[in-house]
Amino acid sequence: MLQRFIEPGGVANVQIKKGKKFKIINTFGHQVVDVWAFNSNNMSESLSMHHSRSALYKMWFQPDDTLVSTLFEPIIKIVSDTSNGGHDTLHAACSKGSYKFYNTIEPISNCTDNLKLTLNSYNFELNHTPCPWNLFEHAFIQPDGRLEDKPSTAQPGDFVELEAQKDLIVVCSACPSRVGNISASDPKGATIEY
Ligand SMILES: [Zn+2]
Repeated sequence: MLQRFIEPGGVANVQIKKGKKFKIINTFGHQVVDVWAFNSNNMSESLSMHHSRSALYKMWFQPDDTLVSTLFEPIIKIVSDTSNGGHDTLHAACSKGSYKFYNTIEPISNCTDNLKLTLNSYNFELNHTPCPWNLFEHAFIQPDGRLEDKPSTAQPGDFVELEAQKDLIVVCSACPSRVGNISASDPKGATIEY
């Protein structure tokens, strides 16, 4: 197994063959990780949060769930999850625009640009940012429909183990955002093991 540490605000991408397992590890706890996955044989097909919510009829995904792509085809299966789950599927990736919108100090990097730069390295360009799967992020829906952010409860070493259902390029951005205090007091980075 190989491991790559992702600094807070950093990004890593790995190519995972169909049927192979990989883990996203919350190295120091409380770190939100924005995750995208693209079919490496057809980059215009990617993991889709809204397709997966419709396919699974749920807001949050858990072990044995198979997430689907923009073509409604199996793309990632959740093998195991040592955190207490509830990984957000709703929030947009942070961006220059979001930091301006929320009137907060912009970190030197953001998850949207991290994805864009990664895809550019594959000579692929998207004119939109797919909603990330926000691993370890907790955004709870109130009875009146409002969203409420809570700090991630992931403990050091907690991980989500996934299995590729297609040949994938997986992109993980260790979110530097402090909006909503999502990574508790301090984003500290994460690890991908593959
Ligand atoms: Zn972010």
